[in-house]
Amino acid sequence: MSALVDSLRALVGDGNVLTGEAMAPQLVDWRGRYRGAAHCVVRPGSTAEVAAVVRACAEAGAPIVPQGGNTGLCGGATPDATGNAVLVCLGRMNRIRDIDPDNDTLTAEAGCTLAAVQAAAAGRLFPLALASEGSAQIGGNLSTNAGGVQVLRYGNARELTLGLEVVLPSGEIWNGLRGLRKDNTGYDLKHLFIGAEGTLGIITAATLKLFPLPRVHATGWVALASPAAAIGLLGDLRDEFGPLLTACELISDVALDFVLRHMPGSVRPLGASPWHLLVELSSGGDADLQSRLEAWLAGRLGAGACSDAVVAPSAAQARRLWALRENISEAQKREGISIKHDISLPISRLPVFLEQAGAALAAAFPGLRTVAFGHVGDGNLHYNLSMPEAGDNTAFIAAQPTVNRIVHDLVHAHGGSISAEHGLGQLKREEILRYKSTVEIELMRALKRALDPLGLMNPGKGIG
Ligand code: FAD
Repeated sequence: MSALVDSLRALVGDGNVLTGEAMAPQLVDWRGRYRGAAHCVVRPGSTAEVAAVVRACAEAGAPIVPQGGNTGLCGGATPDATGNAVLVCLGRMNRIRDIDPDNDTLTAEAGCTLAAVQAAAAGRLFPLALASEGSAQIGGNLSTNAGGVQVLRYGNARELTLGLEVVLPSGEIWNGLRGLRKDNTGYDLKHLFIGAEGTLGIITAATLKLFPLPRVHATGWVALASPAAAIGLLGDLRDEFGPLLTACELISDVALDFVLRHMPGSVRPLGASPWHLLVELSSGGDADLQSRLEAWLAGRLGAGACSDAVVAPSAAQARRLWALRENISEAQKREGISIKHDISLPISRLPVFLEQAGAALAAAFPGLRTVAFGHVGDGNLHYNLSMPEAGDNTAFIAAQPTVNRIVHDLVHAHGGSISAEHGLGQLKREEILRYKSTVEIELMRALKRALDPLGLMNPGKGIG
């Protein structure tokens, strides 16, 4: 065994350093798309141990790859194939350190799962919510600046964070665990590490915002003729319901059709329509929320703003509507292989983007099926393409670079982003260089050099 493995074992205990076959689950990403190799996997149990591990790796010149729940979708937590990296898994750092009800904050260690953080909020709401929340860890959520279905109301991970504790690439510990909503004392350093995908340091703990727990929900399904009609209705919803509007999800009929075809028990909520909106309102105690939404939608229907609408009469029915949205990814998987894009645009540009991208793709690849859906209230779409019904996998996979070019060039032309939620990781590391200015890339590289002069922190990920 190497001298580095020996010294890591001395720091964290023999059972917390894995080598050989025992590392296998950590060396492949959630989609099975990236596979890597590692010198060893280390599982530190405290911030001091993380710092000691980082110092030992720096002295040995070993690259460090932080890993949380390993649910990331861009290969950010998978090491490269050299086998030189030390994979630092945070799962043993799973304590809730503090809950401060008067300050409405909770301090959690990085290895707490998102579901554990939500549960620990007991009687309050920690609003970050993802389908991966049972496995994804808060350290990974912050390192990817995760989004989800409630960003419209509460913001993404960045906006939910007040303070961080980070082990820097030097092995020093920065304790920035402040529970302050106002603090103008220089650069706000926590924002460097949020969304950095582990390239600037290892997040070991975070102080997070809590909110009142909504007790009343109203969930509606709206049929619409076009994305432009959906954007119009979203604006009207905002004007009418303000902060009560918690989620607004756009669903194309192709996406709904896949769910109806592949997910047993799924039922079309309304008659056929090219587009659908799933709308959720929530409040602490407005008992009339459901009837308010019903009356308002009836008015919009009368004005021709939508073609049909229904409000779930019960919590069970609301869950069935949400299942139609949440099952889209699984249904698309069952339909066959697909090319996925996680994009965002100014909300006002979404209709023209959808029109232009649809036309360009139809011209280049006749029969391609567009499965567009997502958090339209945040301008974030999953713009996924399934191959033509009579197509073959090899030709479809070969088309991917051209498809990406068409989609990403249009996103960029409309002032959008090619990664709205999932980060860059390995997947978009090259692609992003096409769309960021030299000034922006050099600024990011200067920050990387300043914090990680040896380039050991998650090399080959993000902008490096
Ligand atoms: P990992 O996958 O382990 O790591 C992700 C990145 O963060 C890597 O670069 C890693 O090196 C780094 N990292 C991890 N922990 C730390 C740490 N403590 N310090 C420094 N760097 C670290 N994402 C969304 O935004 N919205 C969604 O709605 C959403 N839905 C999903 C649904 C499913 C079914 C799945 C599988 C994924 C989904 N994701 C979603 C993607 C994923 O769950 C998120 O990116 C999540 O935040 C990753 O957390 P993780 O702990 O699994 O991180």
